[in-house]
Amino acid sequence: MTVAAGRQFLAIPGPTTVPDSVLQAMMQPAVDIYSGPLVQLTDRCLTDLARLFDTQGQCFIYAANGHGSWEAALTNVLTRGDKVLVLESGGFALGWGENARKLGCDVEILPGDFRRAVDAAALEARLKADQDKSIKAVLVVQVDTASGVYNDIPRLRQAMVAAEHPALFMVDTIASLGTMPFHMDAWGVDVAVTGSQKGLMMSPGLSFVAANQRALAAHETAGLVTPYWDWTFRSGPEHYMKYAGTPPEHLLFGLRQSLDLIFAEGLEAVWRRHALLAEAVRRCVAVWAEGQVLRFNIEQPDQRSDSVTTVRLPEGVSPQPLIDYCQKRAGVTLGVGINKLSGKAIRLAHIGHVNAPMVLGTLGVVEMALQALAIPHGRGGIQAAVDWLGANVVA
Ligand SMILES: *Cc1c(COP(=O)(O)O)cnc(C)c1O
Repeated sequence: MTVAAGRQFLAIPGPTTVPDSVLQAMMQPAVDIYSGPLVQLTDRCLTDLARLFDTQGQCFIYAANGHGSWEAALTNVLTRGDKVLVLESGGFALGWGENARKLGCDVEILPGDFRRAVDAAALEARLKADQDKSIKAVLVVQVDTASGVYNDIPRLRQAMVAAEHPALFMVDTIASLGTMPFHMDAWGVDVAVTGSQKGLMMSPGLSFVAANQRALAAHETAGLVTPYWDWTFRSGPEHYMKYAGTPPEHLLFGLRQSLDLIFAEGLEAVWRRHALLAEAVRRCVAVWAEGQVLRFNIEQPDQRSDSVTTVRLPEGVSPQPLIDYCQKRAGVTLGVGINKLSGKAIRLAHIGHVNAPMVLGTLGVVEMALQALAIPHGRGGIQAAVDWLGANVVA
């Protein structure tokens, strides 16, 4: 028996749902790459990306996924052998650090775990101990999509300032830009990276890097620079140089439309929508958790992201039947646990082009699956989510 016919819903934290108008915007004939509207389109996209990052710094557009943006950021400011400090709070900062290690950097991990945000005091202590200032860059994610954690970026910057440490502060906002507030310049972030396929509601394939003056100065002497990612070449006079080759035109058409959607709604309204829907998910999960089987992965409420909620199952209980049920019997694809949470958790995404029916529908399906599979859970999760939205989304 299934009730899965109808529109399938992908509730994974990336790629996220691409709005119909964005899909349609990509379905256009190719245009000239040397002159005409595409040149202006590039300028407008770069201007709006700087607005999203909230920076006066320079933005770069890459035909690449998030991993590409990691490499772009690292190679433009570092030299083989440079020491890099990676702040662990889930899977993705570690992945970025692994990228740095393969590039020949000397990578040190500030140990953390999958259940909490980076400890600012530990960062401050580690940087204070770095007497000869050998650490050249600090890498962190704002939202870790594996653990669901939210890191307080200004607080971490304060720790660097308190330690009077000159390392570059490099932040991955792939799962948070266009979802939660980010203010690159005000927060003292030197390099920020993001991707198209999460909060920006676009297909995978584009990623973006923003660099401030300190980062651009570091670029002058960086030894890891390679032709494709190179900021200097990409700042050259010809339009094609901004892409180090043929611009990914159709992806840019889509990006333009998704940026238009974000700014038409208003960036603050977008953040507020995410906060409201995420809290509805958390209210629901908190009720389910009363059954003593499901638990929030992130223990402290103020460290849970508005992009994705990671829900743990007990040791030895596989989430696979739940995931299969939702997909095959009800038409919702949930996120699986990844990295250290592989086989131990589900991830409920509430990022990008999401509204109340998408979120409430997903929660409803999970609750239906919990019941059908006789997984113990507190009753009334959906009611708690509805109560929250009904009380807070008012005319
Ligand atoms: C998705 C994600 C990445 C990786 O992006 P890809 O496009 O898969 O390479 C990196 N960091 C974070 C925080 C992410 O959520």
